[in-house]
Amino acid sequence: MAGLYSLHHLRGLGFSAVVLEAGAGVGGTWYWNRYPGARCDVPSLEYSYGFSDELQQEWEWSEVFPGQEELERYFNHVADRFDLRRDIRLNTRVARAVFDEHRAVWTLTSDAGDDVTARFVVMATGPLSAPSTPDIPGRDRFQGLVLQTSRWPRTEPDLAGKRVGLIGTGSSGVQSTPELAAVVGHLYVFQRTPTYTWPSHNGPLDAEVQAEWKRDYAEQRRRQRETPGGVTGSTGAIILQGPGRKPILESTEAERVSMLEERGWDASRAWSDVAIDPEANEMGCELFREMVRRTVRDPETAESLSPRGYPIGCKRPVIDTDYFATFNRDNVTLVDLRRGGIESVTETGIQTEQGHFDLDVIVFATGFDAMTGSLSRIDIRGREGVALRDLWVDGPRTYLGLQMVGFPNLFTISGPGSPSVLANMVVCSEQHVEWIGACLAYARDHGFTTVEPTPEAQDAWVDHVNQVAEGTMFTSTTCNSWYLGANIPGKPRVFLPYVAGLPAYIERAEAIAASGYEGFVVG
Ligand code: NAP
Repeated sequence: MAGLYSLHHLRGLGFSAVVLEAGAGVGGTWYWNRYPGARCDVPSLEYSYGFSDELQQEWEWSEVFPGQEELERYFNHVADRFDLRRDIRLNTRVARAVFDEHRAVWTLTSDAGDDVTARFVVMATGPLSAPSTPDIPGRDRFQGLVLQTSRWPRTEPDLAGKRVGLIGTGSSGVQSTPELAAVVGHLYVFQRTPTYTWPSHNGPLDAEVQAEWKRDYAEQRRRQRETPGGVTGSTGAIILQGPGRKPILESTEAERVSMLEERGWDASRAWSDVAIDPEANEMGCELFREMVRRTVRDPETAESLSPRGYPIGCKRPVIDTDYFATFNRDNVTLVDLRRGGIESVTETGIQTEQGHFDLDVIVFATGFDAMTGSLSRIDIRGREGVALRDLWVDGPRTYLGLQMVGFPNLFTISGPGSPSVLANMVVCSEQHVEWIGACLAYARDHGFTTVEPTPEAQDAWVDHVNQVAEGTMFTSTTCNSWYLGANIPGKPRVFLPYVAGLPAYIERAEAIAASGYEGFVVG
């Protein structure tokens, strides 16, 4: 989504631009993540471009939360509608990016050896696009079919009647579980950490709500940028109900039971203190576990599915359709890896400490090397040939999540140190594209050839990003999330996105631009 808009916007500013895209089609995340059940957790009316009123008036969303197929269709429509395809090179994976200090240009080299030279490079590579597959011994020995949610084949594999093992219960695993269970012979869900997940209450989008948004899009888009998560919450989507006013710590048992009756799964978060106080949070977690017990018939399975030992709000909330109820099906087995972990993949299945599971198919829903992975997988060389991945060995350092010292004219969209994954990615992408466009136009119009942050500005920003994350549930000592890089062995534990919210971020970024790019050397 960031690449398509970058091309359109930069063209409009009079730049010549080309997009290099690894996939065989456009859509980014929604091109690759085509697993059964793949769906966005931001409402469709909010998860769409605001840069063109014609586009938002003519496009009709069908569901409250858009599914992968509809999103991929939307991004293809955008590519056609704005005549973008003529400057997009598909099937082109960038392997290397090298800065030439004398000429102040970048040379990008694809893995097929083709070069492109450019004054400016915009990395619209996505914060969740570098898949992470655990290094389980014997992985290549398996004789059956191996699938990965984030690389699901374009031709739907025939899973009917098959014994399928699904590894991972994050958003991707949770979304695919009910859909896989409905078609496979038997589904084994290998769970290492139980998940807090809430029902999406997805359904057809109310025509009146859509019409109302169409009458009021300009105002809605303005409000999105004024809310911390870039989501106004005015589409009627239930996931967005805010916390209540009452602290759970001051509630009686009768009040908590009554809240469960009234709000169901949402009862766990319906209090003023659950997001900020660890003790209150644990009481919210207990309400969540009570819902698991009420939903899952087998008590042992319910206990295994009940998250413990880490707070609600440490990880990105997952939203689902019928996830827990799926474990009441006869053809679904939860394999609780805390009772005995995976030892190896064998020719015929998965060997655990609890025994062997015979399988025809293994599905990895094991996540991503988030925020830095898509950048560090490219050999990016800045001044004096220094590699970005070497500089980031102790964690990423950026100014505004937009640029790095030593890498002039290279910009990152939704990079580490920006709100990115903590906010609506379309709003974040549009804001970054527009900021970068204005910066490039400024450099061009003033006859400057390079833009690069100062070390002082970058250091101060990194300190600020760390400081605002302190004391939140995200950085709780019991929290191990991909936000912290904790899902990747050896990755430094650093909170990657900027947690202070979009309005504070946008205000800062715009003030910096208005001041003539304070903290950047433009020369
Ligand atoms: P994830 O949240 O990182 O989940 C990965 C899962 O794989 C975890 O349950 C993890 O267990 C498990 N796992 C990893 N290595 C394992 C191993 N060696 N053995 C057993 N289990 C292992 O990844 P994801 O589900 O792809 O989601 C990542 C993010 O993508 C989401 O948080 C969200 O931001 C985005 N996403 C969004 C949507 C949506 O919009 N609805 C859908 C999909 C993804 P542990 O927890 O124990 O490490």
